[in-house]
Amino acid sequence: MYEYGCLDCARQFERLLPMNATDQQIVCPFCQSTHVRRRLSVFATQSRGDAAVAATTTTTGGGCGCSGCSCGSRS
Ligand SMILES: [Zn+2]
Repeated sequence: MYEYGCLDCARQFERLLPMNATDQQIVCPFCQSTHVRRRLSVFATQSRGDAAVAATTTTTGGGCGCSGCSCGSRS
């Protein structure tokens, strides 16, 4: 499942594509424009809960968030 954004009408839509069809021309379902751009938020609709938990854990344990932090930057 890939998420696309139309450059002409600025709407977003999703397309399910096989892995060997990445060069397939995608057409916007709203304005039929071919000026679409693939977005990378593939897991946005599926792992939002996990991402939130991971972010909370990182923030709590890491301070500034960098791995092996010793910079002590806490805002
Ligand atoms: Zn469009």
